[in-house]
Amino acid sequence: MATNDSTFLRSKLSPAKLGLLEKRLQDAKRQREQAESSPVQRIPQRPDKGPAPLSFAQQRLWFLDQLMPGGTMYNVPFALRLTGRLDLAAFEQTISELTRRHEVLRTTFAAVDGQPVQIVHPPQPLALPVTDLSQLGEEERERQVERAVVEDARRPFDLSAGPLLRVSLMRLGTEDHVLLFTLHHIVSDAWSLGVFVREVVTLYGAYLEGRPSPLPELKIQYADYAVWQREWLQGEVLEQQVGYWREQLAGAPAVLELPTDKPRPAVQTHRGGHHSFTLSEELTKRLRELSRDEGASLFMTLLAGWQLVLSRYSGQDEVVVGAPIANRHRAEVEPLIGFFVNTLALRARLGGAQSFRELLGQVKETTLGAYAHQDLPFEKLVEELQPDRKLSHTPLFQVIFTLQNAPVGELKLPGLQLSPVGRGGTERTHFDLSLGINESDDKLKCSLGYNTDLFEAATAERLAGNYERLLAEAVAAPELPISQLSMLSDEEREQLRRWGRSERDYGTLAPVHLLIAERAAERPHEVALSDAQRAVTYAELEAEADRLARLLVERGVRPGERVGVMLGRTAEAVAAMLAVWKAGGVYLPLDPSDPARRLSFVLADSAPSALVLRGALPDGASAGDALLLDLDAEGDGLAAPETGAPVVEVGGGDVAYVIYTSGSTGEPKGVEVEHRQLSNMVAASQDAFGFAGHDAAACLAPLTFDISLFELLCPLAAGARVVLADARSALDPGAALELLGGVTCLHAVPGLMRQLAEFAAEAARPYAGVRLAFVGGEAVPPDLLLRMREAFPSAGIHVLYGPTEATVICASHAVGDDARVTGQMIGRPLGGACLSLRDGRGREVPVGVTGEIYIGGAGVTRGYLNRPELTEEKYVEVDGERYYRSGDLGRWLPSGDIEFLGRRDDQV
Ligand code: AMP
Ligand code: MG
Repeated sequence: MATNDSTFLRSKLSPAKLGLLEKRLQDAKRQREQAESSPVQRIPQRPDKGPAPLSFAQQRLWFLDQLMPGGTMYNVPFALRLTGRLDLAAFEQTISELTRRHEVLRTTFAAVDGQPVQIVHPPQPLALPVTDLSQLGEEERERQVERAVVEDARRPFDLSAGPLLRVSLMRLGTEDHVLLFTLHHIVSDAWSLGVFVREVVTLYGAYLEGRPSPLPELKIQYADYAVWQREWLQGEVLEQQVGYWREQLAGAPAVLELPTDKPRPAVQTHRGGHHSFTLSEELTKRLRELSRDEGASLFMTLLAGWQLVLSRYSGQDEVVVGAPIANRHRAEVEPLIGFFVNTLALRARLGGAQSFRELLGQVKETTLGAYAHQDLPFEKLVEELQPDRKLSHTPLFQVIFTLQNAPVGELKLPGLQLSPVGRGGTERTHFDLSLGINESDDKLKCSLGYNTDLFEAATAERLAGNYERLLAEAVAAPELPISQLSMLSDEEREQLRRWGRSERDYGTLAPVHLLIAERAAERPHEVALSDAQRAVTYAELEAEADRLARLLVERGVRPGERVGVMLGRTAEAVAAMLAVWKAGGVYLPLDPSDPARRLSFVLADSAPSALVLRGALPDGASAGDALLLDLDAEGDGLAAPETGAPVVEVGGGDVAYVIYTSGSTGEPKGVEVEHRQLSNMVAASQDAFGFAGHDAAACLAPLTFDISLFELLCPLAAGARVVLADARSALDPGAALELLGGVTCLHAVPGLMRQLAEFAAEAARPYAGVRLAFVGGEAVPPDLLLRMREAFPSAGIHVLYGPTEATVICASHAVGDDARVTGQMIGRPLGGACLSLRDGRGREVPVGVTGEIYIGGAGVTRGYLNRPELTEEKYVEVDGERYYRSGDLGRWLPSGDIEFLGRRDDQV
């Protein structure tokens, strides 16, 4: 449900700071009066004092009250501590006179033929209820005060019975009182409180001295305004006002998609908190100077900055912010108490290459136009525009901004000191965010209100810091394109750098096949690998790989040439991979069960110089000029005596493999990965997960997926045993026990992992020995982590993340014991990796804000085979470092972990 009274609600927190809203109002009014050639139409008194219609704003609150009677959402409580001598009689006289002067304070609401009317009741002297707490101990007294303040604020009004002003007094001692008063919003607003306060001061002062009220009688009353508003705002006037707003808001985004800390409730809630902060004297001065130089008001400059920060947070180029406006630009309503406040929807366009100065010019124009059309009440605008209504969001805008000027009337009574009394735990908010700035000082005092069902306190604090930083950058260089203004403080930047960059640097690493050869020398007779047919020891694996490597070299395969391996899911395929590396070649895994079209595409695109297989190519696939090495026909060659591997030097910068990513649309792309990147992946995984010689690791992934390299190479480089299996046998009770019994490490994509976890939780328990369970390759639903925790109770559970372009994996998230994860986790960088989250213009985003995941560091691969333009597009240089733009969206959580938020839409 929308409202426009947040200024009002906030201001009641600091009564001393109440006052007229804006100098801009006066300016606007003057402009308006000058613009209109005819004198401003006066609001007349209504002819009789009978029931009158409600103003538009009142009518909305009345309807809300009909829908939810007894609500206290629109209570406006106000509590003051009065220290000093209080003249009770003079005070009672003051309140009585106030209710006499202002009909609205003795008005009730009723329905006549279904239509609401306001009924003004005759004035009556008011007796102030006094609760005497002076006999209580101090502690108990304060407790009672606190309770009474909260209770009074939460006591509902009855709009049909009234009164809608409630005043009471607590006596704590002879010179110590607490005054409680609460109004219903339907009869008041922030400006009204200013009027109230000024009149209390004047009247109390006079009565104390025995003088009569010095206040002139009011020319009109609120009901007169309501009658006038209804008559005036129709026909041409209404058309003209609505027309202006319709045009202003055409095509504006209905919702500002702020990244929230908590899932947005389906129905909007109103629990609020606020974060107070102050803009320095220097910044305040510069903001005033810039405003002056640009012929803008301070309001406009602060609003431009606010809209810019919101645009950054939401990732939206267009931002609509609500700005409450006192709506007292007609002289005769200025001295009234009543519900006048209106909220203007101010839209900013923040795209393009504009400078802050240009943005400010735009905001100025929008704001002045809005002032000139401020008479259309917000509720009428919503009624006319009929924007998409959602119960979860306020219509038109979800964020508001207010600038309040110096208080006009300070609440200072003769002989009395006044101070506001806080109302613990009763903060309410109608909006997602509301920024209020107070201009009464050399330093701008700011209060950022937020809905606590959406945001954490730390987020509000961060947002405030980002706003301040952005303002500072804007005033320092208003001519710069706004896209170049940063909102991150140096500390935040440093924090993100620390989170994003792993401390590890593994230096120069040996190619992985040499590591495996070392393991083979250490443990020749241990099983390295088993598949459905056989188990192969490390010595056998090496010997097989060496023989095939020699054959490749003999047949003319040169270093750097691609060699296709199409041997199914077999130990032999793994030996062939090692053989290709031993021969200095580039491993190109191919799956004979892939569609012929894809196989042909990959073969044509990668143009391997040789293809290792058994038998013939599948029907319809063509290998071009590639030498076909059919192992079925090579029996003799492969049986040659063991003479070790051919001596081919492999450098870290040589390409180790090409793997084709599927790409949801478009053609598959071959990614070229160098040995140093592969070695880094293996070293980083070892570092993070600690594979041990006694481990047995399942390899379930197709060999054409790069995660198979993680599943194979990490265990082998650690001297562990790898079990080559497939999803079907992994889920088959008999096969799983036989093949995978004793497995200690297990990786699967989320879909398969869910089945495995269910299977593992059942009776046969083939996976009881799992101590490392990995899941990744796609977004991991949080509940799956819970399932895994149940299925593998003693395992370390890790989410793995990474694109092929950054070498298999570059981040991992270790699931804690409580597994209370709510989002899809990506985690933190693995060794050598460097992660950074950036917006559409390549700027780092703060914690909590959605950005694209950029991956830098030791795993960034060479690029796409035969696709230089695409490589240039996706691999970018930022601050002298090479990054791969993943197209994945994520955000930093305050813990320093990255949460996955989907893919960028335009990504293919
Ligand atoms: P590929 O290059 O084929 O391995 O696909 C990499 C893509 O898979 C990434 O860019 C992500 O979109 C997705 N991905 C991989 N791991 C994860 C994960 N843990 N969470 C979410 N998405 C993932
Ligand atoms: Mg992958």
